[in-house]
Amino acid sequence: MRKMKYLLLRRFCQFAILILFVLGNYSIATFKNVQNVEEIGIFGGDIESYIGDSSSVLAKTPSAISSIVQGNLSYSKWFNGLFSLADPLGALQIFLAGGGLALDVLLGVALVVIIYGVFLGRAYCAYVCPINLVTDLASFLRTKLGLNRAPRKLFFSRLTRFVILALGLALSAIFSVAAFELLSPISMLHRGVVFGMGFGVFAIVAVFLFDLFMVKNGFCGHICPLGAMYSLIGKFALLRVSHNVANCTKCMQCVQICPEPEVLKPIGKESGAFKTMTCLRCGRCIEACDDNALTFSILNLTLKERK
Ligand code: SF4
Ligand code: SF4
Repeated sequence: MRKMKYLLLRRFCQFAILILFVLGNYSIATFKNVQNVEEIGIFGGDIESYIGDSSSVLAKTPSAISSIVQGNLSYSKWFNGLFSLADPLGALQIFLAGGGLALDVLLGVALVVIIYGVFLGRAYCAYVCPINLVTDLASFLRTKLGLNRAPRKLFFSRLTRFVILALGLALSAIFSVAAFELLSPISMLHRGVVFGMGFGVFAIVAVFLFDLFMVKNGFCGHICPLGAMYSLIGKFALLRVSHNVANCTKCMQCVQICPEPEVLKPIGKESGAFKTMTCLRCGRCIEACDDNALTFSILNLTLKERK
């Protein structure tokens, strides 16, 4: 169990967030139609799809959990509007596309930037993003099926995601539309779970198959501009993985399991906290290490920072 504590924590956070959003957007509507009055539970607030020509809505009551959260990963209100959270990439695209951003959204972006920029780094990818469940499954199956030993079919740089991020922002400005939002499998999966899945399922299957058969950690490690954005936001975050070289036996189990192996380049060479911004803080490397050579630390307050 100790070897899986971060995996269990990640799964708990990912599923708890999804469940809260599903229940938060659930409501009971009371309809009156020609025969009688009936109550229907509605997920996602899509009331129109339940109304026939002969029906009218008498009342719509939010669920108790609606006071905890409402909205989606792009923008959500928490605890009856006590604070909001907003996706910084989505907001930036809307801004560049010429759209206005309400104060609520700006405050939501600021809070997200503080949480990940000051404290958690790119942890959004490991603990919040629903696509991580899909790509982790593909990664698990790749290992089980021995596909990691097969010759690579496709080579491209992990820097591609930063190019896609810049391209997405440029296209948003040029075409006055939030370019990545139109195609984002993250939004498609999250909205699909919360409000009902449509054709977005094909994008999610494509991500799964791409990661399974084409490129190891293909989508998150090479393509996703939101992961790139959180890497940039979290570049100077305090939470780090630290290495104690005195305990390291250079078995390299951590490197094999890490979805961003370049983070662990200094393994076996020097003690200190790793600075590479693409680290997800997933804790896989810490779980894989049998020699107690890796741990989470708060930068500058524990082990010496690696230059
Ligand atoms: S890289 Fe993108 S898809 Fe992958 S976990 Fe991060 S935000 Fe989600
Ligand atoms: S270095 Fe460790 S915590 Fe960071 S991405 Fe790799 S396995 Fe996850």
